[in-house]
Amino acid sequence: EAPTWNIFDHIMRWSDKYRKLKIRTNADQPDQADLAVSFGAEGIGLCRTEHMFFGGERIDAMREMILADDIEGRKKALDKLLPYQRDDFYGLFRAMGSRPVTIRLLDPPLHEFLPHGDKEIEALAAKFGKPYHDVRNRIDNLHEFNPMLGLRGCRLGILHPEIPAMQVRAIIEAACRLKKEGHDIIPEIMVPLVGTVRELEITSEIIHRVARRVMAEQESGVTYLVGTMIEVPRAAMTSGDIAKAADFFSYGTNDLTQMGLGMSRDDSGQFLPSYQNYDIYQHNPFESLDQDGIGRLIQLSAKEGRTVKPELKLGICGEHGGDPDTIAFCHSLSLNYVSCSPFRIPIARLAAARAALMA
Ligand code: PEP
Ligand code: MG
Repeated sequence: EAPTWNIFDHIMRWSDKYRKLKIRTNADQPDQADLAVSFGAEGIGLCRTEHMFFGGERIDAMREMILADDIEGRKKALDKLLPYQRDDFYGLFRAMGSRPVTIRLLDPPLHEFLPHGDKEIEALAAKFGKPYHDVRNRIDNLHEFNPMLGLRGCRLGILHPEIPAMQVRAIIEAACRLKKEGHDIIPEIMVPLVGTVRELEITSEIIHRVARRVMAEQESGVTYLVGTMIEVPRAAMTSGDIAKAADFFSYGTNDLTQMGLGMSRDDSGQFLPSYQNYDIYQHNPFESLDQDGIGRLIQLSAKEGRTVKPELKLGICGEHGGDPDTIAFCHSLSLNYVSCSPFRIPIARLAAARAALMA
């Protein structure tokens, strides 16, 4: 037994005594969840379900869905994905025991799942028995100049409700199975990229409709929550309205920073290092929250949300959730939890305790 581990354990236990913030993890696989729990994670704050679609047969079914000619074709492909998703969620719920698990519905634009090189498109066309030019056209039609601001997040689910329907079915079926095995879990279903309350309402209707149907089929009842990412500035500014339709908010500070600063999270690495020489931002705003700007959006949102719904659960799940200064800021707003990558959990526990003691 390494003595350093004892010291580590001691400091962690001490931190846990003082901190007010819960510490969750971002994880989408049972082994990540196990690792996070061993570091002290108290739940999953963000499961990015898109990561579940890249393996062998899954990516084929995903591509079949995207390239299908009509809704029947899409549903057929989604039926192939359903058992995989159900096993994914079952595995995650089991790994987390009775701890809360937040599952985010599919977020990225669909072309992220497609190949773009000629050779790969040729192979894809051959696999699905379609003419090369049809597949090429389809892929070209999905092209967007600003995909981060395009057809993604809840927009995707609103225009193609069969996608969230499959995911919600998988979530509720997995929860029903666990219930039959004696484990009561409360899945938290999270809607990405919401900008208006109407978007959340439409998506919630899909979620409730499917959940009701699955529970009737399974002759079982599962309690679940429906909440939203707050990552579009408009959502932050209208949080009072949005709170009426949400059980929880999770601040997606990666997108909120990107959209709030009008600065691409994927490209800013090119110029931010030189930009820093001008003393414009104190820190890289994608690593440590821009508290004067984006922080105020969150502050306003948390206040409005809790005024309308005092029991609204609030958390943060962007990369910033593992940054000590941002954690101190989250503590000052009395958020309920921060969610970060598994390896950042010990630092987050310590930072949350420090924030509580310094307050
Ligand atoms: C975010 O935008 O902060 C977020 C957590 O979602 P993603 O990074 O997957 O866009
Ligand atoms: Mg996001």
